[in-house]
Amino acid sequence: MSLRPEPPQRPERDRTGVAIVLVGDELLLGDVADVNTEWLARRLDAAGLRVTSTFVASDDLVATVTALLRAIEDAPSVIVTGGLGPTSDDRTREALSVLSGRPLWTHPEMAADVRSHLRSRGRGEPAAESPMAQAPEGAGRLANPAGTAPGLRVEVRDAVVYALPGVPREVRAMLPLAVLPELVARAGAQPGTARSSLRLAGIGESQAAARLVDVEKAVAADPGASIAYLPGPALLEVRLAVHRPSETEARRSLQVYVGAAVGALGEDLYGQDEDTLASVVIGSLVARQATCATAESLTGGLVGAAITDIPGSSAAFRGAVVAYATELKAQLLGVPPAHLAERGAVDPSTAVLMAEGVRDRLAATYGLATTGVAGPDPQESHPPGTVHVAVAGPGGHRVRSLELPGDREFVRRLTVVLALDLLRRELAVPRGEVGEPRGEVSDAES
Ligand code: ATP
Repeated sequence: MSLRPEPPQRPERDRTGVAIVLVGDELLLGDVADVNTEWLARRLDAAGLRVTSTFVASDDLVATVTALLRAIEDAPSVIVTGGLGPTSDDRTREALSVLSGRPLWTHPEMAADVRSHLRSRGRGEPAAESPMAQAPEGAGRLANPAGTAPGLRVEVRDAVVYALPGVPREVRAMLPLAVLPELVARAGAQPGTARSSLRLAGIGESQAAARLVDVEKAVAADPGASIAYLPGPALLEVRLAVHRPSETEARRSLQVYVGAAVGALGEDLYGQDEDTLASVVIGSLVARQATCATAESLTGGLVGAAITDIPGSSAAFRGAVVAYATELKAQLLGVPPAHLAERGAVDPSTAVLMAEGVRDRLAATYGLATTGVAGPDPQESHPPGTVHVAVAGPGGHRVRSLELPGDREFVRRLTVVLALDLLRRELAVPRGEVGEPRGEVSDAES
């Protein structure tokens, strides 16, 4: 019996796979931020194709050949951008000549393209044939309506390489015209795509995945569907996408997945797609013909700013009181000085009194308050990251107390999210249940 491990079997090539190669020293030096990948990936995905990998190569023949070889290993279609210009640092056509084993020659149609482009720019007749008309023998030409250098279509082994100039404007003009139709046809891709983002607050990735176990199983069994988890500070986006032969079919299937996911996620789901916590809060307040006001200490007005970012917030937002100094919590919000002396400014009960105070003084249906220690120094012996957020309304009050990690900026940003989410949950309580004070709901997280 041999002890040598079996080499892993290469999975069958996914015909919809596309690898992207970017060529340019400027991308590796950080002088230019890559915009081609993002744009190409979105367009390819929307066409039912799948980006399998991306590679970045320097303006060097060996580096370009190596990156292209890896890309060809990965996917049956490769898009390479950059290195098609006329100068000595443009090596993509040479790399394709090496890989295809075909010598470079002057492609007559490409030469005509270059000449007519230069003429149309008033640059006259070029003295010699431009290097931009060179292509490996047998290569096809890809029209470039936005620039001088035509693109190339080169077959290498069992893959097809589509070489485009690096200029983003030219990539955008060429892909739909010269590349995408063939890619879709070769891949037998399903051109209908529908996607939706489910937006969650106060729940981590693994908790969400545990609730979505049945949706995950159905997605895993469906080659046209995918699910992705994108966590942010105290927020989570669950992205569902479906590819089908038509957009109508894709939308119909997506609806089934979304319906099942919404049912499983419960009240941690605050919205979908373009929703934000603030937009959902404003929507709920307007629907109830209710208003809110904020009393802010460590957030210094950021909660009010997030709410007023939403167009139409004036229908539901009364205003903000930024009571940073402890005595202003008494003067502006009516928190009893004796309470502040006994419990301090950083205390759950102070947060509740601030919320009640601003609700009362600004004549709002709901008062929302933040107090805590943003850091870097402790305050009243509380460590940085100690945060209390409270909401007061017709149904009583809720308060959340947390120990947040991170620096000052992160703590303040997270507090805004926690405060908005607290109000959002209060507003999600069915109207019939409002009226009974619920007292303190308090938890500490690290
Ligand atoms: P040209 O004919 O202009 O020489 P080219 O095919 O040789 O085109 P490059 O020289 O690599 O392409 O790049 C042309 C311009 O496009 C440069 O300004 C470069 O910084 C920019 N560029 C190249 N690739 C990218 C990319 N991935 N993202 C953003 N800009 C890019």
